[in-house]
Amino acid sequence: METPGQYKLVGKFRRKIFTRHGEFLASGRGFSQALCHIMNKVLIIGAGGVGSVVAHKCAMVPEVFGEITLASRTLSKCEAIAKEVKNRTGRVIATAKVDADDAAETAALIRKTGAKLLINVALPYQDLHLMDACLLAGCDYMDTANYEPLDVAKFEYSWQWAYQEKFKNAGLSALLGSGFDPGVTNVYTAWALKHQFDEIHTLDIIDVNGGNHGKAFATNFNPEINIREVTAECRHFEDGKFVETPPMSKHQEFTCPDGVGTYEIYRMYHEELESLVKHIPTIKRAQFWMSFSPNYLKHLEVLQNVGMTRIDPVVYQGVEIVPLQFLKAVLPNPGDLGQSTKGRTCIGNVITGIKGGKSKAIYIYNICDHEVCFQEVGSQAISYTTGVPAMIGAKQILAGDWRKPGVWNIEQHDPDAFMADLNAHGLPWQFIELSPEQAALFQVA
Ligand code: NDP
Repeated sequence: METPGQYKLVGKFRRKIFTRHGEFLASGRGFSQALCHIMNKVLIIGAGGVGSVVAHKCAMVPEVFGEITLASRTLSKCEAIAKEVKNRTGRVIATAKVDADDAAETAALIRKTGAKLLINVALPYQDLHLMDACLLAGCDYMDTANYEPLDVAKFEYSWQWAYQEKFKNAGLSALLGSGFDPGVTNVYTAWALKHQFDEIHTLDIIDVNGGNHGKAFATNFNPEINIREVTAECRHFEDGKFVETPPMSKHQEFTCPDGVGTYEIYRMYHEELESLVKHIPTIKRAQFWMSFSPNYLKHLEVLQNVGMTRIDPVVYQGVEIVPLQFLKAVLPNPGDLGQSTKGRTCIGNVITGIKGGKSKAIYIYNICDHEVCFQEVGSQAISYTTGVPAMIGAKQILAGDWRKPGVWNIEQHDPDAFMADLNAHGLPWQFIELSPEQAALFQVA
């Protein structure tokens, strides 16, 4: 496979591109696109629900994304997605098999594809191995979920923040958490700080999935990661420290705008709280809420009670199996839920603070329709709301605006171009000012 060094720019204004073998590639109008094709090669790792959306959305922006390679553990999944991308967008993307836990193997693939950016939409367990691979091969890195060790249900940024100097010294950029939450919710907060507040004091991130997939029990993204997240101790930030409470012990009703409906939302820990309170130190309280249906909670309780959510190995007929991994194997694949899922998601932030010496509160949110997503890219809205911001984050890096050596959480970059791209690429946002009474309704301590 050819790399940028294998091309020649020819002509008075260097506006004709030939390969080093003398094969004419483009000139004139096709010049910019051909240049981007050569320069902006990306390698997407992970061919699940999110990987499929990222592949589609990158393919739909040919003026930014050059050659695209989709690689994962199971080649047939990559090939099936590549076929769908070809049918929907007309673009051909390359596929490859890779074990993302093997940094040397991934580095070899990065070199072979000539990728400038690796988009990690495999699982959080792979984050550090993929960051190592990028350092080995000299490639920028981004992901949508922070690192989790396989054997402890604990996620925190410390492991990835520890790569700061390595990326800086190598002149490479790493962007952490460019999905919806984390991702868009962080950018909403950065945008609010830039345009709406002098100081932010409280932050409530509210993630409502008002959709129904028609199955008895299914998770809308990777079941193993979803169940580890939901069953973990709740932590929220208050008065300068994180406070721990039992999982799902705090909940309240929340009515979404635009007729999405009223749902029970449960307070839980989510990774963006950690980076946001670090980077916006005026925040006094930060909480994360997610809606769950009574049906989901009923099944989860039974699965927990019978030990099916355990992440330690048990011996079954002489073989070690991890119950949660076995459970994942028998649950519906989130990537296949698109066809049956109906309804809308509503994810947004309630933010309070001061502007010009006066108290102020806003709610900034996106509403996304599962069926509309399915029509566009063949996926449900959870994969869509994660995959679109991943493409947009990648676009900012390739454009150079967010290309800064080091390891960065998304709220550390300027939010404006990303916010504009959300409107342009399928996740339009709105914001409303809240009265003090309305703001108080959202904020249960
Ligand atoms: P899926 O389980 O559907 O897909 C994960 C993919 O990664 C699969 O194709 C899997 O391969 C592949 N994979 C796993 N291990 C390896 C490995 N060692 N080497 C190569 N490939 C591997 O997950 P989702 O698409 O639902 O989620 C993807 C990511 O997005 C997760 O990290 C999740 O936490 C994150 N996410 C982030 C959100 C946000 O808003 N920030 C929201 C939702 C998800 P195989 O098929 O062979 O198992």
